Amino acid sequence: MPPEQAPPPLRLALDADALAANWRALDQLSGQARAGAAVKANGYGTGARRVVKVLADAGCADFFVAYASEAAALTGLVDPASFSVLHGPLAASDTALMQACGMRPAINTLEQAARWLDAGGGPCDLMVDTGINRLGLPMAALGDPLVSRLDVEILMSHLASADEDSALNEVQRLRWMEARRQVPARRASLANSAGIVLGEGYHGDLTRPGLSLYGGVPRAELAAHIRQVVQPQAAILQVRDLSPGDSVGYNATFTADRPMRIGIVAVGYADGYLCVWSGKGMMRAAGHDLPVLGRVSMDLTAIDLSAAPRLREGDWVDIDYSLAAQAKATGLSQYELLTVLGQRFAR
Ligand SMILES: *Cc1c(COP(=O)(O)O)cnc(C)c1O
Repeated sequence: MPPEQAPPPLRLALDADALAANWRALDQLSGQARAGAAVKANGYGTGARRVVKVLADAGCADFFVAYASEAAALTGLVDPASFSVLHGPLAASDTALMQACGMRPAINTLEQAARWLDAGGGPCDLMVDTGINRLGLPMAALGDPLVSRLDVEILMSHLASADEDSALNEVQRLRWMEARRQVPARRASLANSAGIVLGEGYHGDLTRPGLSLYGGVPRAELAAHIRQVVQPQAAILQVRDLSPGDSVGYNATFTADRPMRIGIVAVGYADGYLCVWSGKGMMRAAGHDLPVLGRVSMDLTAIDLSAAPRLREGDWVDIDYSLAAQAKATGLSQYELLTVLGQRFAR
């Protein structure tokens, strides 16, 4: 028997109560519509199995993933018919998987419509492009005979600029309304997290928040409703004492001007703690601020322990990861901050 593996010295704590509360808040803000949940990319990096379990318990009944394989990895948690596969049936193997499991593809092209129908069809969703020019059928293709043969559960479209007060939002809403007149569907859906606060006209029957479930605040109107969900934490691997003139890390970008104690923490850019935090990130323990010193390395980051000199090897620190503020500080989007966190975090 191989020896048991040591637990990793970094973990991504997930506040399940905050996640459920965020979904309930978004569901409320969706008015007459129900809120679903975008759980693609492993629940925005937070761990999709846990997320689906928590949200299903909170009452969520619709889950959006990018690939059929992502939904397949979540089977056994909820009814497979609660999954919508946003990228659609990309190949015969996808189609077979979705039909065998009972998931719905979002049909994005006439080719996908033909692929789905040729394989026997069944309930599907339909993505209509109303102006983002990403995935989805163009409005002009809605009259195609293939479309009329589809059994559409959710007719959806996706907003390009819901996080801004852009004229494009209303243009897209009107096109989505026109698509609803042309294509019979059991439900209609337009809004992502930010779109939910654009108003009732954007709600339809179902909203599709992602970012805000996980604590992201794409519009100021959401700030009062959304709680932080993830908290990256890492252990101190070594404590050392510096003398004035000693430098820290690659290229010696920090030099101590006084005697100081520092901690070397088990997180680096290979974990998604990117070099943008070099010399400006913040970690915390028991309410004390522990600023990042010098360059972030691949697996290690140095912090100033002046405010908490009792911290020792093996103690854990919280990495400051408040999404909206950190996005502003780094120029990374809140989406990137979540999805960049690497596989070495225990979830
Ligand atoms: C990712 C995604 C969402 C969720 O968007 P957020 O901005 O994270 O709320 C909704 N709909 C589609 C089609 C998506 O791709």
